[in-house]
Amino acid sequence: PAALMEGKRGLIMGLANDKSIAWGIAQALAEHGAELAFSYQGEALKKRVGPLAERLGTPRLFECDVADMGSVDALFEGLKAEWGTIDFVVHAIGFSDKNELRGRYVDTSHANFIKTMDISVYSFTAICQRAAAMMPEGGSLLTMTYYGAEQVMPHYNVMGVAKAALEASVKYIAEDLGKDGIRVNAISAGPIKTLAASGIGDFRYIMKWNELNSPLRRNVTQEEVGKAAVYLLSDLGSGTTGENLHVDAGYHVVGMKAVDAPDI
Ligand code: NAD
Repeated sequence: PAALMEGKRGLIMGLANDKSIAWGIAQALAEHGAELAFSYQGEALKKRVGPLAERLGTPRLFECDVADMGSVDALFEGLKAEWGTIDFVVHAIGFSDKNELRGRYVDTSHANFIKTMDISVYSFTAICQRAAAMMPEGGSLLTMTYYGAEQVMPHYNVMGVAKAALEASVKYIAEDLGKDGIRVNAISAGPIKTLAASGIGDFRYIMKWNELNSPLRRNVTQEEVGKAAVYLLSDLGSGTTGENLHVDAGYHVVGMKAVDAPDI
């Protein structure tokens, strides 16, 4: 298994701390032999991301704010100078004003709608454009989504609308880049306690609900998302593109859970 990602080089975007989904993915990829580079949002995060990257043996760090296309261009120029070509990119980035991740979706402001869509949706397209130009022999692109794109989840609001657009863009980009041997997929993770998630109203209740109602009767870990990412980013996933792989303890298949108590 050590050879699954041997000889593959790629970029991880969205590492903030050791609770980040990006960290679970990075660790799993490194364990399977991948060479990694990281991008971080702003100098303040460098203090956290630098030591984590070093734990995986890479000094390759690039500052990138995906709201700024100049910054995205600079990231890919830096990567090109470092490696020339890449094999994969992990996009684990999302943003919305936390004041709008509670209450009603219908009250979403225009400004936050645009910002949420820009950072959480368009950035993946912008990254795919630039990454594809560095993948002459094909590659694999991965983004992170949530079930709130498919069904209404409490407080997910504008983020749910953004994830629906992100999932649709995965399908369109998969078609566009498929002829170049580039695969494009999403992982739909169950709720995991991270910095971004803590901005969502009643997040602890959402986690408890998933734990009690998913077929596996538990929540998933960032390590489990990491293992699914190895599948999609390695040759194991060579036949899979345009997919939305649920790593959610099966929650998405449940219409109504059977009552566990034997006497009802
Ligand atoms: P996190 O807070 O650890 O990561 C979010 C990352 O987005 C941070 O590293 C932050 O720096 C980055 N980011 C935000 N705005 C940015 C910008 N303008 N430029 C560059 N980077 C920016 O939280 P996480 O839960 O690991 O989130 C990663 C992804 O996983 C997100 O897309 C999130 O929606 C998705 N996701 C999370 C869960 C969950 O329950 N935690 C479930 C499903 C999907």
